[in-house]
Amino acid sequence: MSRFWSDLTRRLTPYVPGEQPRHQRLVKLNTNEAPYPPSPQVLAAIQGIDGEALRRYPDPESTALRQALAKYYGLAADQVFLGNGSDEVLAHTFLGLLQQEQPLLFPDISYSFYPVWCQLYGIDFEPVPLGEDFTVDVAAYARPNGGIIVPNPNAPTGILLGLADIRRLLQANSDRVVVIDEAYIDFGGESAVTLINDFANLLVVQTLSKSRALAGLRVGMAFGQVHLIDGLQRIKNSFNSYPLDAIAQRAVIASLADEDWFQDSRDKVIATRARLTRGLESLGFSVLPSAANFVFATPGPGCDAQALFLALREQGIVVRYFDKPRISDYLRITVGTDEQCDALLEALPALLA
Ligand SMILES: *Cc1c(COP(=O)(O)O)cnc(C)c1O
Repeated sequence: MSRFWSDLTRRLTPYVPGEQPRHQRLVKLNTNEAPYPPSPQVLAAIQGIDGEALRRYPDPESTALRQALAKYYGLAADQVFLGNGSDEVLAHTFLGLLQQEQPLLFPDISYSFYPVWCQLYGIDFEPVPLGEDFTVDVAAYARPNGGIIVPNPNAPTGILLGLADIRRLLQANSDRVVVIDEAYIDFGGESAVTLINDFANLLVVQTLSKSRALAGLRVGMAFGQVHLIDGLQRIKNSFNSYPLDAIAQRAVIASLADEDWFQDSRDKVIATRARLTRGLESLGFSVLPSAANFVFATPGPGCDAQALFLALREQGIVVRYFDKPRISDYLRITVGTDEQCDALLEALPALLA
């Protein structure tokens, strides 16, 4: 605490990201990064940057990149919004679209940054409980609200909600913005991007951080009808006109151009996810059905998940543990390479004994 802090600064409980350890020897399965490097074309684009591109300000509207993304997703360029990671896109969405009279709804178990933005922007919210099986029950959202945000697949459960359910959510809340946070959609889900031209209230948020191995570049995007995107542009241009640097704008265009690389690394993650799930199950874990690049698993009764998390950490294997109601018996494990997952599966029997 400092006497120089504003009231708001004093009241904040900031988000705590997963640890980024300095020691590189760790098997790092805690922040859902891609286990494979980005496309070589991305690295070539970055190496091709000249001094002139850095001397000048970047295009504040990221025009070429928005056009490339629009083409990729079958949209118009003015239906695309970009930010410095989807965390920034989401922050602008909370301020620009979700700060309403009535409370914002989101699942009781979901991305733990949501309540942090609510606190920052003074947004009232009501957590909506997931079902017993950790699925999102869209009927439970039939209550007065100022907006809805749902990660799909959900985090940290990994469970996917089908497009029919999303359609129902959109129809039942046609006067409210419904945000679908698709950080993990490329690992097995169907994107709601295809619904954008049908629903004036739909905003789809995605990121280059997970399926495209560019967490270090910080690029996220939102897709929606022009009136929603224009609202986000007003916030962006009242906050930081240049959220994407010149390097990021070029590198992402290169990433989108290398579809083979993208499909290949995504397919490898999906195959390893199945392998990791089987391995954990054979050790007695219950694993939720995941459509993401992580699994959410409980070692079962009689085993303390937090103790297991700490014991793995001792052995240089880092996963994520959330000391929160309903999920304190679970570990969230990022799908790494086959070798990384084997290291985990080989370390577990001794720790479980
Ligand atoms: C990782 C993640 C994000 C943020 O990703 P960025 O790296 O900021 O683009 C947003 N939402 C969910 C659910 C995530 O898991």
